[in-house]
Amino acid sequence: MTTRLVIPDAEAMEALGARLAALLAAGDLVVLDGPLGAGKTTLTRGLGAALGARGAVTSPTFVLAREHPTVSGAPLVHVDAYRLATARELDDLDLDYDGAIVVVEWGAGKLDGVAESWIDVTIARDAVDDSRDVTITGHGPRWAQLDEALDA
Ligand code: ADP
Ligand code: MG
Repeated sequence: MTTRLVIPDAEAMEALGARLAALLAAGDLVVLDGPLGAGKTTLTRGLGAALGARGAVTSPTFVLAREHPTVSGAPLVHVDAYRLATARELDDLDLDYDGAIVVVEWGAGKLDGVAESWIDVTIARDAVDDSRDVTITGHGPRWAQLDEALDA
């Protein structure tokens, strides 16, 4: 149950974020993986724009997490877990996983047991051009039909 996409440029990455946003509600968790410059923040920017998030979505470098109120109701909580080594440290942030849409950069392997369902997005840079290979996998009952939802 994995969707694989080739994303040619940053604009298309933002559009992918918007496609994901359309599926998300309070309580949902998205984990973004991929190296520095992969496009994690770019995807989150598109996601935030589609939700009507207030404030600029940027890499939360000096804060670990930033909460953006949204037009749609559920706030967007954007986390940069780069400097958090363990699940325990991430847990210490006391994020509102139930009341918010939570998007975590560098979150892979640090969120075990936090949610029953979540979406993993893995971004790889292509060796020859600027395109990105994006793999989207839904976990848990909430995302059993994620591939179909992304296709629609
Ligand atoms: P990360 O948060 O993963 O470190 P950013 O989203 O901050 O990455 O940066 C990605 C950079 O790569 C941006 O400057 C963006 O414009 C550029 N870029 C070029 N091609 C792409 C693409 N296909 N998808 C996403 N970003 C791209
Ligand atoms: Mg980033």
